[in-house]
Amino acid sequence: MAKKKLKVGFFSVTSCEGCQFALLDLGEEFLELADLVDLTKMRLIEESEMGPKEKFDVAFVEGSQLLKENIKDLKDLRKRSKYLVAMGTCAHTGGIYALKKYNLGKNKAMAHVYPETHKKNFNYLAEGLSQDVEIDYILPGCPAVGKEVVRFIREMAAGKKFEIPQRPVCYECQLYQKVECLLQKGEPCLGPISLGGCDAVCPAAGMACEACRGPLEDANWPNMAKALQKIMPQKDVDEILEIFHVKEITKKKK
Ligand code: SF4
Ligand code: SF4
Ligand code: SF4
Repeated sequence: MAKKKLKVGFFSVTSCEGCQFALLDLGEEFLELADLVDLTKMRLIEESEMGPKEKFDVAFVEGSQLLKENIKDLKDLRKRSKYLVAMGTCAHTGGIYALKKYNLGKNKAMAHVYPETHKKNFNYLAEGLSQDVEIDYILPGCPAVGKEVVRFIREMAAGKKFEIPQRPVCYECQLYQKVECLLQKGEPCLGPISLGGCDAVCPAAGMACEACRGPLEDANWPNMAKALQKIMPQKDVDEILEIFHVKEITKKKK
């Protein structure tokens, strides 16, 4: 008898949908999952809402719950899903949406970016899905790493435990990409404290790692701060740490 396929859905709350695009960018590698999954919802393939009362083995959610109706939808989806996966940095920590905490001030930023909705519908506190629903797995990154999502699905389908190795971006940068180290050249790079798994794509392209996948569990913040402070003023260090909400995470770990 053929093995039962995993029933899977991909959903967006408030998002740019870049995480779903990262999956579609895989092309054939993504389509090959059809042997393992019954993909019943994916907004980028077919217009779909969170509403219909279908149940899922795995529901992937990208984006952050910036609107109050997003919270309602999420809670409903949680009840209908065996595993709920935060896909991408917005779903994990609030990502770039969490930038609203900094600099501009609550009302000014909201009125500028969301002139129609900010007064009545806005959930100013959105900093990751886990604030409102229990999350079973996190697949971080802005966007999420397509190959990692595929590995996740394959391991779930095989009944294995999915884990992301706690290795820094520097590990892949030096082992596979063999990049001349930006930090050693006197340029800022958050690779030493950032969770690897992205193949160090940014340093490989000559750009600094900005920790879009979030920090390692045992990130050495004091050493990272010292290395950056030798290169740039604290104000600039803070700005890098704000981009993906890493500044708040740093404060919590101190
Ligand atoms: S994590 Fe990045 S790519 Fe994914 S929804 Fe958020 S902003 Fe878009
Ligand atoms: S370039 Fe960045 S990621 Fe690569 S080894 Fe240097 S600090 Fe680490
Ligand atoms: S190198 Fe850093 S910023 Fe670039 S994808 Fe990897 S974790 Fe994200």
